[in-house]
Amino acid sequence: MATARPLDEAGVAGVVRRAAERGHTVRPVGGGHGFSDLAVTDGVHLDTSVFSGITAVSSDGRGGHATVRVRAGTTIGDLQEALDDRGLALRVPLDLRGPTVGGALAVGAHGSAPDGGSLSEAVLGMRLVDGRGRVRDVPRADLDAARTGLGALGVVLDVELAVVPAVPVRVTRSSRSVDEVLDPGFWDAHDLAEAALFPSAPTAVARWADVDPADPEPEEADEEEDEPREARERTVGVTSAGATGRTALGGAVVVERAVPRLAPSLNRVASRLARTVSATGAGYRVLSDPPAVRYEQTEWALPREALADGLRALLTALADGLETGLPVRMRLGAAESGWLHPAHGRATGWVAVRVPRGTDPGPALARAAEVLRAHEGRPHWGTRHDFTAVDVARAYPRLPDFRRVRDDYDPDRVFTNPALARLLDD
Ligand SMILES: Cc1cc2nc3c(=O)[nH]c(=O)nc-3n(C[C@H](O)[C@H](O)[C@H](O)COP(=O)(O)OP(=O)(O)OC[C@H]3O[C@@H](n4cnc5c(N)ncnc54)[C@H](O)[C@@H]3O)c2cc1C
Repeated sequence: MATARPLDEAGVAGVVRRAAERGHTVRPVGGGHGFSDLAVTDGVHLDTSVFSGITAVSSDGRGGHATVRVRAGTTIGDLQEALDDRGLALRVPLDLRGPTVGGALAVGAHGSAPDGGSLSEAVLGMRLVDGRGRVRDVPRADLDAARTGLGALGVVLDVELAVVPAVPVRVTRSSRSVDEVLDPGFWDAHDLAEAALFPSAPTAVARWADVDPADPEPEEADEEEDEPREARERTVGVTSAGATGRTALGGAVVVERAVPRLAPSLNRVASRLARTVSATGAGYRVLSDPPAVRYEQTEWALPREALADGLRALLTALADGLETGLPVRMRLGAAESGWLHPAHGRATGWVAVRVPRGTDPGPALARAAEVLRAHEGRPHWGTRHDFTAVDVARAYPRLPDFRRVRDDYDPDRVFTNPALARLLDD
């Protein structure tokens, strides 16, 4: 295995051409944050980190949107900060820092807006190096293949993204009953909404956010109930700096610091004690919820109408001896146009199960996959899953179109690896 770090587009094209001539394969690599083995190769790892930054901004782009052109190696953290500096933002903030634009697009990375799409959905144009080493502007007809391309069509160089004016959002975190957060009335009422649910608890920690252009006090956190903070921290045996700090309102941060061994009782206590906390500021900052522990994750996109039943079934299954110590995360997204995006063609409820590193993730992740598949789930490509080409063919009606575009962009399968072959090959 070799790593190539070309410094310009001609260098990328050269790496791909040389690999093709020698019969080697190439995998573009972004931040390397994926939980799946999509970026793994015994061929050439093509490091895209040099290709960073916003290269153009247009305030009167197509469809009345502002647009930016951003290079694919830009990290999502840098992108959101650079947009903020220009008074712009992603329509749906992403709770990601290290992953890159190219990696996030390849796997369909998403935030949590009931009516908003993933980063892939914001793509208006794309340039890439294809499997023959040619730099290509992806035409409109191929864009729905490329916007969530799994790294199967080429090395993405840069993309044009629709963005929105930056306005402050007010985010609130509070405990709610499981019934409440599973009711469409909860998420339909907000621009952004999500919840953390605990298999053994009747309450969930909900977070929601709404655009708040009138708020004059950016990034002020206030606590709306006056239970002593220290008492709460002592009771659950964890720190909660992230939950009440200047910028972050971590939806699940309290229990994310819990010791897995104590998880069931902590889950019950922590969810009961979660207080109402609000903050206002740039969406990507006030929604930031950095993980306190490293974990393995499987996440599935369920049709919105199957979300409540699927989540209830999952919580019941995990409560039966498979609690992981980390809450199950529920998020929402609009139907996507990307042919291989897990939310393709259907309003979606995302369900993520996480297992802390150091614990065998196998049993909980396998049980989660079994339950969520049974509710028409499609896996997030950047997380752990067991989908095969047979499953993809059943779940994705536009797979034949994707294959046709792939045959055009990468006829010799320079960009393949075992994980892609398992998903895409006949
Ligand atoms: C702590 C943590 C939090 C997360 N939170 C979220 C979340 O909130 N929402 C969510 O949806 N996901 C989340 N994820 C998963 C995340 O979306 C993916 O791990 C991430 O987007 C992958 O980006 P990356 O740059 O690390 O890509 P890599 O892991 O390096 O690669 C992933 C795929 O992208 C391809 N790729 C990378 N760059 C390019 C390029 N230039 N051109 C073509 N293909 C390319 C690779 O070949 C591979 O197939 C989280 C992951 C972690 C570790």
